[in-house]
Amino acid sequence: MSASNGYQRPFSKVLVANRGEIAVRVMRTCRELGVRTVAVYSEPDRASLHVRYAGEAYPIGPAASSESYLRIDKILAVAKKSGAEAIHPGYGFLSENPEFATAVKDAGLTLIGPPASSMIAMGEKTRARQKMIAAGVPVVPGTEAAIETAEEALAEAEKAGYPVMLKAAAGGGGKGMRRVDDAAELKAAFEAARREAEASFGDGRIYLEKYLLEPRHIEIQIFADSHGNVVHFGERECSVQRRHQKVIEETPSPIVDEAMREQMGEVACQAARAVDYLGAGTVEFLVDAHRNFYFLEMNTRLQVEHPITEMVNDGVDLVKLQLEVAAGRPLATTESTRLPRGHAIEARIYAEDPEQGFLPTPGRISYLRVPGGPGVRLDSGIYAGWEVPIHYDPMIAKLCARGPDRETAIARLDRALSELEVTGLRTNVAWLRRVLRHPTFVSGHYDTGFLDAAKDELLAPDTDSLHEVAMLAGAIYSQDRTRRLASKALGARAPEQSNWKNEGRRRGLSR
Ligand code: ADP
Repeated sequence: MSASNGYQRPFSKVLVANRGEIAVRVMRTCRELGVRTVAVYSEPDRASLHVRYAGEAYPIGPAASSESYLRIDKILAVAKKSGAEAIHPGYGFLSENPEFATAVKDAGLTLIGPPASSMIAMGEKTRARQKMIAAGVPVVPGTEAAIETAEEALAEAEKAGYPVMLKAAAGGGGKGMRRVDDAAELKAAFEAARREAEASFGDGRIYLEKYLLEPRHIEIQIFADSHGNVVHFGERECSVQRRHQKVIEETPSPIVDEAMREQMGEVACQAARAVDYLGAGTVEFLVDAHRNFYFLEMNTRLQVEHPITEMVNDGVDLVKLQLEVAAGRPLATTESTRLPRGHAIEARIYAEDPEQGFLPTPGRISYLRVPGGPGVRLDSGIYAGWEVPIHYDPMIAKLCARGPDRETAIARLDRALSELEVTGLRTNVAWLRRVLRHPTFVSGHYDTGFLDAAKDELLAPDTDSLHEVAMLAGAIYSQDRTRRLASKALGARAPEQSNWKNEGRRRGLSR
């Protein structure tokens, strides 16, 4: 079928093998293109937004991902039953699983993503490093292969010089990663990293990298088609991290100029070519204080933070490009020649409590007010009345803002966050606003250590005093009430106003 403007939709029906905001994000583009959508869901996700949004939806099992969202057989069975032609895996779950890519292909369907061979080449960090070294891409200095013993780790660390980073070859999500500052800590850290990697990935292999001091994490969005074109869409600055996981991302990076962007972009395209890449991918780099950049890893899927790239690239729709490229269409080779226009920032909204060690806070959303207005974009997987399940990642939405410059984008995102109201469970919204307003973030001179260094300043101010104010207000209220009742009983005039405000000010609590 072609739309009224002659546009040929790339597929007639797509199954989205994911949940939450990313499933909705993908389906939104499908709906715009006239592509029908199929959702899959686990039991606790029965009433999820992605299920409601899809044209049709099918249950695939109980809460545990291993019994539902990771079940290749069940997902393929739904694809067959629903007549979907292609599968979009989103991020996480099966998105970087070569077995899944192969199974989709073998079932005669199209995976909206790279071939299994690219996933394999980039999936294991040590293999990716070897590939990149061979392709002339600068990598973070360290070992090429996994380390067998603690003694070997000691020798390699001496060679690299402390501090070093122990990392899981099969790594992801910061698991199995340990910074080690001196030889005395190494043995225990090596064993701990090994155990964690084994538990998380079923693969305990560890390798070692030099720990770059005060690095920035900057990544390049690339795109490759099946006609030999590889382009990039500029960088994203992702150095605002908690426990090595991104929290706020922005583009352009405060330290990347046009020349550096072109240089990093070219290297990223080179990395993609080296693994015969197809579709959307992200090449991550660590950048040192001298603006030297080193390959960190490549994510062979759509990235969480892709919306900010869309916002500064004239609203290009990366999911639409994914669908078109998967259907065999060529990219316009001019895609990457444009410069970023304006500035965009994303904040990841979590159902978690920053004041309680960022503990997840699943529960029912009783009320939801969504932000709007100029330059604001909300990608969310929630609605009022929905129960955020405990079983999955607690990220419930992403709020992005774009402005003509960085200052406006920050002010806009802060304003949008002030409009967002989620009641019924605790979120990190107030904490995110404090991060955005922190002088270090505002200055643009920050590195991956920023959140850790500012940890205490970022906690809610005066929680004790606030508690005290609440207690005080309660006490005064009941005191007032007693007085009023007494006056009434005596037929006298009740006091006109409570004195709690004055009391608060006197005690310096009215900030
Ligand atoms: P994962 O795949 O587990 O998320 P990455 O390799 O992408 O791990 O690294 C995540 C983050 O950890 C980086 O953005 C950076 O903050 C930190 N990191 C990783 N390797 C190093 C290193 N060699 N030196 C300093 N920081 C590092």
